[in-house]
Amino acid sequence: MKRRIEELKAELPGQVTLVAVTKTHTVEQIKEAYDAGLRDFGENKVQEMIEKQPQLPTDVRWHLIGHLQRNKVKYIASFVHLVHSIDSLKILEEINKQAAKNERIIDCLLQIHIAEEETKFGLTRTEATHLLDSPQFKQMKNISICGLMGMATFTDDEHQVKKEFSNLKKIFDHLKSTRFSSEASFKTLSMGMSGDYHLAIEEGSTMVRIGTAIFGSR
Ligand SMILES: *Cc1c(COP(=O)(O)O)cnc(C)c1O
Repeated sequence: MKRRIEELKAELPGQVTLVAVTKTHTVEQIKEAYDAGLRDFGENKVQEMIEKQPQLPTDVRWHLIGHLQRNKVKYIASFVHLVHSIDSLKILEEINKQAAKNERIIDCLLQIHIAEEETKFGLTRTEATHLLDSPQFKQMKNISICGLMGMATFTDDEHQVKKEFSNLKKIFDHLKSTRFSSEASFKTLSMGMSGDYHLAIEEGSTMVRIGTAIFGSR
């Protein structure tokens, strides 16, 4: 695993953050990745994250990358580093509330639906702008929107995947210039997984979420 991590790190451009996706993998495997120098770990389920978090050093940055339910926010609000999967105003309201209780600001990404598959979560570009322009959002004091996340269609068609990532980058640039022009914290474009991170980086990704290429298949 150490070699795979070193190869990946050498391959990724300096401005791209590597989030190691640890879902279904054991604490021992995560510790091995930690010892190889990784600090950013991504889980897609709250339950799994809260089981693992106390067993790892406190300087781990925990990323919630899967769909988040409102009744689970309270379990991660004290420590989560970045929530990638904001797909409604309602979930943001709950995160804002729990962040306030913990006297912190929680960094979040809006998940944008870019894939062809109907099953993938996420907001359309229009929904995202409506959310950002809503009075409810503007009142939230304990949320920082730091960028966008998206998942491409699961396909061998590289042209299709590239087109979807390029579309996400366009939405990112548009929101940055129209809604976040004075906010340096809007800078993260989370796109790219084991099978498509090369394409994502070509299209402007600043954060890749990689499981299989580090830990092997699940
Ligand atoms: C599982 C998962 C990944 C990582 O997938 P790999 O193909 O194993 O690299 C990335 N992002 C999300 C949202 C995931 O659920």
